[in-house]
Amino acid sequence: MTIPLYLHNAYLKEAEATILEVVKESDKRWLIAMDQTLFYPRGGGQSTDQGIIISDSWKGKVTQALQKEDRIVHEVEGDQPPAIGTVVKQILDWERRYLHMRLHSAGHVVDFALYLLGYSPALLMPLKGDHGKKAVICYQGTLEKDIKEELEKKANELVARNLTFSFKLVGHKELEQESIYLQPGLPKNKPLRLLSLNEVGSVADGGTQVNKTSEVGKISILPIETKAGMTYIHYRLL
Ligand SMILES: [Zn+2]
Repeated sequence: MTIPLYLHNAYLKEAEATILEVVKESDKRWLIAMDQTLFYPRGGGQSTDQGIIISDSWKGKVTQALQKEDRIVHEVEGDQPPAIGTVVKQILDWERRYLHMRLHSAGHVVDFALYLLGYSPALLMPLKGDHGKKAVICYQGTLEKDIKEELEKKANELVARNLTFSFKLVGHKELEQESIYLQPGLPKNKPLRLLSLNEVGSVADGGTQVNKTSEVGKISILPIETKAGMTYIHYRLL
């Protein structure tokens, strides 16, 4: 089982690890598992982390990380494979990760703003989000009026208030009691992370987030799209 360091501290940029498994994928491309990782595996709408892994005698470039059951596997480019048992240093492409943290947290700020305005989860039920270059959150349901302006205003109000994000691991029952809503497809047999925005509320979440809403910066809501009973809220960072 890989220890996911990014869940405990999303601001960790470098860490040691031990190589546990190496599988050749192709010439100069290896699948590598370690005892712990800084690299967020793509999932939950958040993109993969990238970076490098080095030892005294070896260097590899991490192109993506993937969750494979209880392990996280890294796709690594390098001339040679590292030896099993090698102690390495992982260095995250921090600029990329921090942008993904800000984009992901921005999605939650918009979602919390919809909740505070009374639209979610009663009229718009959150289904999923994609917090990449074309960031969007998808809701089941539609509204009669255009809420773009009031949503943008409320989201930026939350940014300006510089509220704190925090986490705890909870069982499914506690999650049900404390979350504003439960999105579909949450695993029922393992502890889940409850993401709370101070003074606002909590939702289930497994990605990396910034500590404070001011780190997100100003959010722009793009024209709201509705299609086949769904509402798509596209947003970007300014
Ligand atoms: Zn999330």
